[in-house]
Amino acid sequence: MTIEHIGIAVKSLEISIPLYEKLWNTPCYKIETVESEKVKTAFFKLGDSKMELLESMTEDGVIAKFIEKKGEGMHHIAYAVEDIHAEMKRLQEEGFIILNPEPKMGADNKWVCFLHPKSTNGLLMELCMERD
Ligand code: ZN
Repeated sequence: MTIEHIGIAVKSLEISIPLYEKLWNTPCYKIETVESEKVKTAFFKLGDSKMELLESMTEDGVIAKFIEKKGEGMHHIAYAVEDIHAEMKRLQEEGFIILNPEPKMGADNKWVCFLHPKSTNGLLMELCMERD
């Protein structure tokens, strides 16, 4: 596994994109809506890895709920894997809780799968694999 990106929950992309562009000294290269998750995402390249900002499209979406509970900030770590099905099976056998039994379409042309934070010391984990 390698770290593919880190996800940060924000209230407003409009406010946060210029802030992170200044902080990281690099432009946002992609804004993408993920309908299934009701989020708008913005991506930045930082060396070999990426950062993803997530804004909720609805008041009761997962990102809105996260911010309500914990405030803005780090939301998840995403790992690039070569074979997402094999990795999901391995992690399940190790006792981790998989949130979606089948990989789903994520942002940035990826198949994604999330691990329940209850099984990972409180931090949401995402596995992702390039879609072809
Ligand atoms: Zn992500």
